[in-house]
Amino acid sequence: MSVGIGGMEIKTKYNENDLLYIIEKEKYETKCIYCNGTGKVKIKDKKFDCPNCNGKGKTEEELKWDVIDCKVPEKIYIEIEDGIVEVYYVFRWGDCPEYIKEEDCFSNRGEAFKECKRRNRNESRGTNKVDR
Ligand SMILES: [Zn+2]
Repeated sequence: MSVGIGGMEIKTKYNENDLLYIIEKEKYETKCIYCNGTGKVKIKDKKFDCPNCNGKGKTEEELKWDVIDCKVPEKIYIEIEDGIVEVYYVFRWGDCPEYIKEEDCFSNRGEAFKECKRRNRNESRGTNKVDR
């Protein structure tokens, strides 16, 4: 589809009534590997709160890309700043509209999952580099 704004014709990847798969960085809690999620560790037959997770059984959240929903956008929103065009698809969850960038929308479920995998792989590789 193309949208006309101030004499400019902006081409968008998807149409207003396309069903789109949305990907977002989501928070995850991971099971503590020291206490195996129980929150307790046994030392000489006595149980203690796990020092790694403070007895919670879970460790801090990890951020991962995931497909969060598939919806038809309410509208397409185009922002032009300093000549850079950003295309957003506006979705509604309950009362609040959310603006999702075009690069985070996919018309195909498989593609959406593939992109999540790619981003998660790239980002974990990036963290490793910082550590060393
Ligand atoms: Zn633990």
